[in-house]
Amino acid sequence: MQHLSNRAPAKCAICGEAESTPGTFPMVVGVGRVCLSDGMKKVKCEACGDEVKLLTSAKLQGKTLCLSDYMKGIEKFRQHLVVNFDEDTEPATSILARAYNEAPEGYTLLTVHRGRNSTHLWEAEYEKTEVFQMRCS
Ligand SMILES: [Zn+2]
Ligand SMILES: [Zn+2]
Repeated sequence: MQHLSNRAPAKCAICGEAESTPGTFPMVVGVGRVCLSDGMKKVKCEACGDEVKLLTSAKLQGKTLCLSDYMKGIEKFRQHLVVNFDEDTEPATSILARAYNEAPEGYTLLTVHRGRNSTHLWEAEYEKTEVFQMRCS
């Protein structure tokens, strides 16, 4: 792995400090690599107002978001969505009903099936409704 050892040390996107060993600074989506002390600083999610560590935040279109709002944010740009359900926590019949009734806004349920190599995980696949309609007309 020649290229790994040759990797230049990253600089903290916040304070500019260079890491002592390449690869030690964690990556924050939309921000870049940050040193650990900046990573531990609290930032405020602009969607729900929660205070989270910079490390567990992400930046999307200039907004600081907690990870769950970030996930919601990028879902808007995704055509496909997979939601996992666990049969250990609820019965299969309820999973099927919920997968259908609680489809994320703007998405159409394509299929619900058991997760690969799993006896209790289910995957519900959704497709953006506009895409779904385009395909079906
Ligand atoms: Zn820093
Ligand atoms: Zn949030």
